[in-house]
Amino acid sequence: MEYTFDAIVIGSGISGGWAAKELCERGLKTLVIERGRMVKHVRDYPTAMLDPWDFQHGNTKTCTMIEENPTISKHYAFDESTKHFYIQDALHPYIQEKPFDWIRGYQVGGKSLLWARQTQRWSDYEFEAPKRDGFAVDWPIRYNDLAPWYSHVEKFVGISGNRDGLPNLPDSEVLPAFEMNAVEKYIKSKINRHFPDRPVIMGRCAHVTAPQTVHTEQGRTKCMARSLCQRGCPFGAYFSSNASTLPWAEKTGNLTIKTDTVVHSILYDEKAGKAVGVKAIESDTKREHLYKARIIFVNGATLNSNLILLNSKSSKFPNGLGNLNGLMGTHIAFHNYRGRITASIDGFEDQYYFGRRPTQVFMPSFRNVYKQETDFLRGYMVAFSASREGWSKRADGIGSTFKEALTEAGKWVVSMMMQGETVPIKENHVRLSNDKSDQWGVPLLITSIAYTENDDKQLLDFFQEGVKMLETAGCQDIVTVDQHAIGYRNPGLEVHDMGGVRMGNDPDTSLLNKWNQLHHCKNVFVTDGACMTSTGNQNPSLTFMALTARAANYAVDEIKRGNL
Ligand SMILES: Cc1cc2nc3c(=O)[nH]c(=O)nc-3n(C[C@H](O)[C@H](O)[C@H](O)COP(=O)(O)OP(=O)(O)OC[C@H]3O[C@@H](n4cnc5c(N)ncnc54)[C@H](O)[C@@H]3O)c2cc1C
Repeated sequence: MEYTFDAIVIGSGISGGWAAKELCERGLKTLVIERGRMVKHVRDYPTAMLDPWDFQHGNTKTCTMIEENPTISKHYAFDESTKHFYIQDALHPYIQEKPFDWIRGYQVGGKSLLWARQTQRWSDYEFEAPKRDGFAVDWPIRYNDLAPWYSHVEKFVGISGNRDGLPNLPDSEVLPAFEMNAVEKYIKSKINRHFPDRPVIMGRCAHVTAPQTVHTEQGRTKCMARSLCQRGCPFGAYFSSNASTLPWAEKTGNLTIKTDTVVHSILYDEKAGKAVGVKAIESDTKREHLYKARIIFVNGATLNSNLILLNSKSSKFPNGLGNLNGLMGTHIAFHNYRGRITASIDGFEDQYYFGRRPTQVFMPSFRNVYKQETDFLRGYMVAFSASREGWSKRADGIGSTFKEALTEAGKWVVSMMMQGETVPIKENHVRLSNDKSDQWGVPLLITSIAYTENDDKQLLDFFQEGVKMLETAGCQDIVTVDQHAIGYRNPGLEVHDMGGVRMGNDPDTSLLNKWNQLHHCKNVFVTDGACMTSTGNQNPSLTFMALTARAANYAVDEIKRGNL
């Protein structure tokens, strides 16, 4: 069977949802192909209103869950309340040449249902970094190219935060911020005094704290600070494709969503010199379909987008669509989350907080921002929060001991983590298996991605500086943990994998141009993490959304100009 659409979007997650919204709003008949099942906003959030005692095992990870899902179960948000939004390891194998935790959510909405919603803009300090420091290739765009699209996305998504006026973390369009608690304010004041170049700010996150008309029109309302977000939010308070972009696209009448359908490859027509559609397989019946369209947006999330493109072979492109330079799948990078520091702090016993704030406190990168000053490249962002021990351990103990414990909040404890930029290198790559494929006949992906010495040095610097800052703030019991060294955190577990189909000016050294089009196949756009030339230290999804909205509008303009 063949169907004809103006546009096909592969994947319905954070970036695919944005592609669908923009293309449909601009009048294109758009087919979104999603390998997972339908998840309708509210209707399909079965655990959203459950309490811990409503779950069979008090909402933990059971031994069976861990045995059945050795990779996925390592993820912090995987438990009885969320497991239906993660894949099952056994159904979706891949080959780890080096240990890599590939975390996936296959359903309508993708990982937009699960994400932790932290959103920070990039600045020119990130866009200019590869050129300045001599790694990867130069980005073909700068902050000014993306700034209007950040605004466009942020107003629709709803970002809570302050306008902090920081050069390396440009201000977003914001709704009211969440508040720091007493201990966080105290630590901030100490850091401000002793480390004046290290601003401490409230986390900017994709939560509607004061709904604007554009949010109520989406049917979304104010965040209730339940912090049960990963189950799906019945208030639509945090941004997900399901609550926001997809229903918006649907309202235009231009959207078709085909669920339970795995895109196998993109079809290239040698004569026409362009892509003409995709080959897709129904996930249960394994029936094959060909869908045709004028333009194709690839939004399967970084590694799946690499996989689809590498698997799109033709006589012109025997190594993957648009891959004439052999670089597709290489230079995969991610974020270095290895370091965690815990501490406690005396006093503040008459200080409490209310609700469950769904974000934390941040410190933008302060290393190598203005010039190279350490023996490692690039920097790391620091996130921390302070809380009272005991208040969140609702399932501890039993009977009167349990009840009494509940009336008293415990000691104040502090948790600090790093989010470091990793430097893309050619050796960190993915490729297709020559002899093993999945149940849909798609070759298995081989991941060959590891930390580098640069990451080790960055980790040590975080430990040194993090401890110094916490000591200055009067913390005790400071413990540093390299989560990789204790066998827990491989690359990938942070779910910020990027690259493989990088943007650049030169078709010899990059795959995509400044509009996210394949240099050698202009009607295919790649706008998820696969397009990232470098990773910055910021949480990435806001940038994926802005790049997607920008590329989608460009694509429509190009169609109108007769160029596509
Ligand atoms: C718990 C958690 C916390 C996170 N926290 C943050 C955060 O605070 N800030 C941040 O910026 N990011 C965060 N992330 C990362 C964020 O979720 C991703 O960056 C984002 O979802 C990527 O968007 P995407 O559209 O590329 O992929 P996804 O949202 O994963 O969507 C991809 C979609 O494509 C579909 N698909 C894949 N292959 C195919 C195929 N062959 N055929 C058809 N469909 C296909 C998938 O089923 C999926 O629905 C977090 C992730 C997790 C899991």
